[in-house]
Amino acid sequence: MESSDDTFGGVVYECVRCATPVTNEDLAALPEIKCICGYRILKKRRSSVVKQVKSV
Ligand SMILES: [Zn+2]
Repeated sequence: MESSDDTFGGVVYECVRCATPVTNEDLAALPEIKCICGYRILKKRRSSVVKQVKSV
């Protein structure tokens, strides 16, 4: 069983309608895959925040 550093599951989805992030944990609590707004189309996105590297 792998464990990522800080994020449960490591996968976060995002509602294409309201852009609400939906985690695996949220999906597990729901009877079906959908956003809290009721929209069913989610896109996968990376949970880790993209780091901006300054090159000065
Ligand atoms: Zn939504």
